Amino acid sequence: MTSITLVQGDITLQSVDAIVNAANSTLLGGGGVDGAIHRRGGPAILAECKQLRAGRYRRGLPVGEAVATTAGDLDARWVIHTVGPVHSYDEDRSEYLISCYRESLRVAEELGARTIAFPAISTGVYGWPMDDGARKAVDAVRSAETSLTEIRFVLFDPRAYRAFDKALNS
Ligand code: ADP
Repeated sequence: MTSITLVQGDITLQSVDAIVNAANSTLLGGGGVDGAIHRRGGPAILAECKQLRAGRYRRGLPVGEAVATTAGDLDARWVIHTVGPVHSYDEDRSEYLISCYRESLRVAEELGARTIAFPAISTGVYGWPMDDGARKAVDAVRSAETSLTEIRFVLFDPRAYRAFDKALNS
């Protein structure tokens, strides 16, 4: 049984096997969750990201894909970096958003993780409307086949928490 849980708070303070990072394609850090993870996680994470950029992801991590590194000083075993889509009213990019959640779960499972924490991917700088982002996130993980025991959404502010609570419980 997988339980889907909600927490209002900072994802970098969670104790889980895998913490998901709403990264960008460069894998070299940014603002929001990405900045917070690298700040608290320390230089080991960035060093591994640089190696990925020098190897398999020379052109960057494509939108909707996910890749793991160790978690440095965070209370987790892995950080799973995924690149959310920038929201657009001209083009429906939902598939990419759903793929971020699914691919992160797949990578987590491959690693042997039992618990995972997600931020609200794309709902910050990438502009995805919170209510829709919450619905897509909840649907994506609910319909995924996974042996993880806990999938935790960590929402930074009360508005995000309310959106996820509504998506999960209605
Ligand atoms: P994106 O570029 O995918 O939009 P952001 O990091 O800008 O990523 O924002 C994604 C979501 O994460 C936003 O809802 C933002 O409020 C939230 N957020 C920012 N910092 C943290 C944090 N430390 N822990 C959890 N959520 C965070």
